[in-house]
Order: sequence, then C-alpha cells, then structure tokens
Amino acid sequence: MVPLDRRGRCGYIVETMKLLKIAAQIALGGDQCRNYLLAAVIKRKDGAVVVSTNALTKLPQPAAHAEARALRKADVGCEMYVARVLRDGTWALAKPCRHCQRLIRSKGVKRVYYTIAPNEWGVWDVGKSKQP
Ligand SMILES: [Zn+2]
Repeated sequence: MVPLDRRGRCGYIVETMKLLKIAAQIALGGDQCRNYLLAAVIKRKDGAVVVSTNALTKLPQPAAHAEARALRKADVGCEMYVARVLRDGTWALAKPCRHCQRLIRSKGVKRVYYTIAPNEWGVWDVGKSKQP
C-alpha cells in the first residue's frame, strides 16, 4: 500500500516534488552566467544526498553537465532528480542528454525524475527502458 500524507497525496509524489523543488532552487541559485540553469540531486542508497549544478565552460562539454558531475558521487541503486529552470524560476525540460543517459545507465542509477514544464515531471526507470 502506498503511504499517503496528511492531504491524502501519495508519499512518493510529495517526496519527488520536494526533491525536484530543491534541485530547481539550487539551479536558480547558481552562477547566473550559465546558459542553462540546471541542477541534479541524487538520493543515494546510504541516505546521503549529493547535489551539483552544470558547470560554466567556454565550450560545450558533456562532463560539465549537472548529471555527470553529480554522478561522480553516486552509488548503485540511487535515484536522481534533475531540474532545469528559466531565469524566472519556471520549470523547463531537463531530460538528460544522450551522454548523460549513458553515464546514468553505467552507474546503475535506479530511476531519474526530470522536470518537463511547470509542476510536471517525467520518470525514467533506467532498468526497464533504454531511454527516458
Ligand atoms: Zn547531459
């Protein structure tokens, strides 16, 4: 049975929303010079939480993506929350790129949640499907 919160919502939906909001706040609070305001939060199996924003680089580099940077401290079976925000804080599409998808699979990430639009997110069950 899925646990419900005080308002009768499913616990995992509340938890997902909370972690995506944290990722969005981190993305917005980073260096405003970046073209994309994006952050990744990883909830590790051991309970630790790892966060990263995308890095400011002169040339496009997949290793500078928030997902790739956060994955350096990931463990097998962890869950990832990726948020991209516009400058006004509105959620935007943060589906991981092909490079990050490969890294996510190779690290054994269980599931990835990513923002799509305001208050909407997508879920990628990494073990069940090859792409989000
Ligand atoms: Zn990427």
